[in-house]
Amino acid sequence: MISEFALIERYFTRPASSADLGVGDDCALLSVSPGHQLAVSTDMLVSGRHFFADVDPHRLGHKALAVNLSDLAAMGAKPRWFTLSLALPAIEEPWLAAFADGMFDLAREFGVELVGGDTTSGPLNICVQIMGEVPTGQALLRSGARPEDDVWISGTLGDAALALDGLQGKISLAGEGFAFVRDRLERPLPKVNLGLALRGLAHAAIDVSDGLLADLGHILTRSCVGAALDWESVPLSNAMRSVEDLSVVRRCALSGGDDYELCFTAPACVRPHIDALRDTLGVALARIGVITAACDLQVRDVRGEPIEIERHGYDHFA
Ligand code: ADP
Ligand code: MG
Repeated sequence: MISEFALIERYFTRPASSADLGVGDDCALLSVSPGHQLAVSTDMLVSGRHFFADVDPHRLGHKALAVNLSDLAAMGAKPRWFTLSLALPAIEEPWLAAFADGMFDLAREFGVELVGGDTTSGPLNICVQIMGEVPTGQALLRSGARPEDDVWISGTLGDAALALDGLQGKISLAGEGFAFVRDRLERPLPKVNLGLALRGLAHAAIDVSDGLLADLGHILTRSCVGAALDWESVPLSNAMRSVEDLSVVRRCALSGGDDYELCFTAPACVRPHIDALRDTLGVALARIGVITAACDLQVRDVRGEPIEIERHGYDHFA
């Protein structure tokens, strides 16, 4: 079996081109571009809690980085560097090679560089810390939503939660639809370019990791506003539309986690600019409601009647 240091050297050391000093010393050395702030976030994935222990390691490597890139996207920050802290039950080289490939493939796509980390034995646990930069004062905060802003969402909602229901045998999904939602759960695509394009357009943004209502709820709380959403405008995939039980569809789309879409608010005057992003970025964008001065969150059906909201999203300790 290879040693800890050989493992780091073989799987997690790549030439650092944008760091002053990358993997191999006691610290990495990084220089932030002049006139920029460093945006830092971390997300941990725990086996059995955030992923199944037997999940495809290439997908796991992708997801560990993707969920962190999603946090930078939500701030409108450009990805620069990340660190990787790994607890591994054993050194399984084919697993490590696939995991590293999945992670570095995505890292290359977004120009983000692995600059350090920590490796230990223990129950499988993956913790990425990500660093990006944003021109000073231009980050998209949760606290900027204002009454009468439009509420927007990228992509479709609830697919990852639907896949989880399928994997747990709670519902049965047909082949193609299941493959699609499973991809959404296991290979989320962070909306980094959308986040960058929203600088100067959006008043507030968040990525949907715990469910639309829970995450939009964070914007509302931090901005001291409310929102009225139209259920009919909530974007659903074909796979989701094929589910007959409306209560499952609503639970997944409104309260299901792990979608990593961006939810943001913006004034009505920038609608044409946001509409144009669909073509320039090739991303689906839906306007699903409006910010209100009253501090509550309502979802209305097609007749304008409030929909009973069952659950406000995922809470690790609930
Ligand atoms: P220390 O004992 O000072 O914590 P380590 O021996 O843990 O140093 O790590 C040696 C070098 O390898 C450091 O530069 C560290 O950042 C890097 N490193 C350790 N684990 C990883 C990993 N999983 N991915 C990337 N770099 C790592
Ligand atoms: Mg260490």
